[in-house]
Amino acid sequence: MPENEVILMKRTETNRGRIHADYTWRRELRESIRTVVHLDRHLWLSQREKRQMSDVIERHPMRISHHYLSLIDRNDPDDPIRKMIVPSAEEFNLLGQYDTSGELSNTMMPGLQHKYAQTALILATNRCATYCRYCFRKRLIGLETGEILRRFNDAVKYIERHTEITNVLVSGGDPLILSTDIIERFLQKLSAIDHLNFIRFGTKITVAMPDRILSDKHLLELLRYYTTYKKRIIVVTHINHPREISQKTVVAVKALERASIAVSNQAVLLKGVNDTPEILADLQKQLLKVSIQPYYVFQCRPVKRVKHNFQVSLHKGLQVVERAKRMLDGPSKRFRYVMSHRTGKVEILGISDGYMYFRYHQAKDPADSGKFFKRRLVATAGWLDELE
Ligand code: SF4
Repeated sequence: MPENEVILMKRTETNRGRIHADYTWRRELRESIRTVVHLDRHLWLSQREKRQMSDVIERHPMRISHHYLSLIDRNDPDDPIRKMIVPSAEEFNLLGQYDTSGELSNTMMPGLQHKYAQTALILATNRCATYCRYCFRKRLIGLETGEILRRFNDAVKYIERHTEITNVLVSGGDPLILSTDIIERFLQKLSAIDHLNFIRFGTKITVAMPDRILSDKHLLELLRYYTTYKKRIIVVTHINHPREISQKTVVAVKALERASIAVSNQAVLLKGVNDTPEILADLQKQLLKVSIQPYYVFQCRPVKRVKHNFQVSLHKGLQVVERAKRMLDGPSKRFRYVMSHRTGKVEILGISDGYMYFRYHQAKDPADSGKFFKRRLVATAGWLDELE
């Protein structure tokens, strides 16, 4: 057979594989739960719950993948997975703001933020496999927005011009909800920038829809190729509770590991989900068991329709984190407890003599970098601005 025919055959095979993989996870995405009627078939909601939920999702849409839904214990009304993904009347509480970290002020063009000198942040999409009720970008998830990347080439030019940028975090929404072709385009353009050392993808797909990874070997091949030959790729997962780590998640993470992708985790401390030392410690242990490096535990941001329902005070947060660390070995307590404040990423260090102590892990103003500071303790405060 002539060589060009072999190439053509191979391409056709590859395309068939691509189409099949696309079909599998896209169908799962299409069939995800977006209406109260659909959810009621699975969770047997009361009339009151249904009414309230309908009002809530008019403002902030619901999307729940069947995989995520299957993790809920239907007999437990306080189930932590349920709390994270099922809309509730608690979202009527408007305490807080929609942009708590000054994201709009760091936006250089739609979808490109530059807050810390070394890191550029791309908002690649406003969609996810599941819409978490505690999301700090609630203002744009599943909604009409002008905050998503529109001019990718201009964003690339901006990053090329700013040689102080050493890494790009591709986030959203969930960037792994994008087609493999689009992800490839991101990788092609970004890996050609000399001064970048690595590219990160911030994603919840490993727990929300692990089939996105498992059913698409082209995605894995692509990631393996780029991380091996072009630019180091890190996947930053977002897992908050040990029960999110299903068998499928373990297999998906192993597949990433086999593709030479480093995986680390950012959790958020959430009331009624992981705000006990035992659960937080167990989470770190389970992460490490499946080769995910604990990286950050974030203080929940004071986001409108989130703060009241999910935020614990800094005082309680510190107690939970410190007690959890007492149950952990060195590698599993390598994470930092931090607050993503508009002035920088602030590490929450401890309490002594009526004061809380902090340090800038990263600062918007380079002059603040590494700065150590204290504030008088207010036991109920949930954010730096609530301390004197
Ligand atoms: S997957 Fe991430 S971006 Fe999407 S809703 Fe959840 S927390 Fe927000």
